[in-house]
Amino acid sequence: MKYYDKLIFELSRKGRKGWSLPESGWEDTPDNLPAALCRSAAPRLPEVSEPDVVRHYVNLSGMNFGVDTGFYPLGSCTMKYNPRINEETAAHPGFSSLHPLQPAGTVQGALRIYAELSGYLCSLTGMSAFTLNPFAGAHGELTGLMVMRQYHLGRGDTGRTRVIVPDSAHGTNPASAAVCGLEVVEVKSTAGGLIDMDALLPLLDDTVAGIMMTNPNTLGLFESGIHRIAEAVHAAGGLLYYDGANMNALLGKVRPGDMGFDIMHLNLHKTFSTPHGGGGPGAGPVGVSPALAHLLPGPAVRREEDGSYGIACSPDSAGRISGFMGNFGVLMKAYTYILMLGKENVRKVGPYSVLSANYVKESLKDLYRLPVPSLCKHEFVFDGLGDRSTGVTTLDVAKRLLDYGFHAPTIYFPLLFHQSIMIEPTETESRETLDAFIGAMRKIAEEASTDPETLRTAPHSTPVRRPDETLAATHPVLKYDFGE
Ligand SMILES: *Cc1c(COP(=O)(O)O)cnc(C)c1O
Repeated sequence: MKYYDKLIFELSRKGRKGWSLPESGWEDTPDNLPAALCRSAAPRLPEVSEPDVVRHYVNLSGMNFGVDTGFYPLGSCTMKYNPRINEETAAHPGFSSLHPLQPAGTVQGALRIYAELSGYLCSLTGMSAFTLNPFAGAHGELTGLMVMRQYHLGRGDTGRTRVIVPDSAHGTNPASAAVCGLEVVEVKSTAGGLIDMDALLPLLDDTVAGIMMTNPNTLGLFESGIHRIAEAVHAAGGLLYYDGANMNALLGKVRPGDMGFDIMHLNLHKTFSTPHGGGGPGAGPVGVSPALAHLLPGPAVRREEDGSYGIACSPDSAGRISGFMGNFGVLMKAYTYILMLGKENVRKVGPYSVLSANYVKESLKDLYRLPVPSLCKHEFVFDGLGDRSTGVTTLDVAKRLLDYGFHAPTIYFPLLFHQSIMIEPTETESRETLDAFIGAMRKIAEEASTDPETLRTAPHSTPVRRPDETLAATHPVLKYDFGE
């Protein structure tokens, strides 16, 4: 019997409790609380003992799959190991107990870290200034596009309302452009998976605000024509936005600023080892070239004449995008990661992640269809199983991987192929882990012909098997139901 077989939710027993508080000495309803704000009846909550609660949540956590429990090759997400030292520094009370409204004079250390982290990100990317305020990659995209729009408007160039986005782009790119009030124009990829210059050039006119690109792109391919693209976009008066979600492939080796990009975001929860907190806090710092630095949102850290750190907002800013200065705890973790790696080791991240990806790709391409067979960067995409005669789909392969103890790769993205399986192994996995994954993928390819039914009904070993994903998304059950 697995632990989750006995996991039950109906634990409540009338009068049972796991807490006690001393008498407050106040009347039940103190005079100083307006009656309208007081409850007429106690809230209905489950009544459980402390061990009930502890076991319930510990067992629930055991049903989860995380990067601490196993290999997590989710493409485009860079699920690398989250070093524990990051947690230690971020949790230091000197940082974790700060209040955002404290006077700058009392938070000099935190402001210095903000400034130093911005500086490290500038040197790693070739940008000239960073704001660390955005809370996610997509939030960074919106921030960057606001800067782009403001740049054109500030020059009186009001007709630039269109943003070019490749057909291989992550869904957040067109979504952010739309949220920013810009019109999205798609540009096609060639059969080789790169931006088609012949399709791009005719789109470049004086209505174009800029182009959003991911490099390496979502197929894990380096856009080798980037210098020509940058030249053409700039000649047409547009700017280049770099979606930095794939920066892990290039870290320490190649800089977006040197490729000609003007604006970019980084996902600290991808490249810089901070946790993907189950939808929880992330950080999407935005960097810009020198000509755009004054447009970044505030508040920002400023070095005062006496050498101390202050907080300021640029009068030209494209607008505020966060209440204060970002998810400081997340920034602390990324700062720690960069310092722990140091200048020498940070250069190894990209090459090792590329090596891992090519190793897995080459070890599986005889059994899985590889639509673009070139050398990849940190990730690559298969178009399902090579043998189509069994009817086994990418979904079946992904579900079966769970039985073998691996998180599934990204599936059905990018949309360029019908059976996409996008695999990103990252540099923090050992050769043994990669070999075990390759072994499971090869076993699944074999099962597809010998025992397809087992694949179609997989997974067989997890607490939840094939939930109705549409129902889960459209009618999520987010709170406990007493059944009344
Ligand atoms: C993850 C990702 C994003 C969005 O980043 P979030 O931090 O999840 O908002 C954008 N583009 C690409 C290519 C990504 O992989």
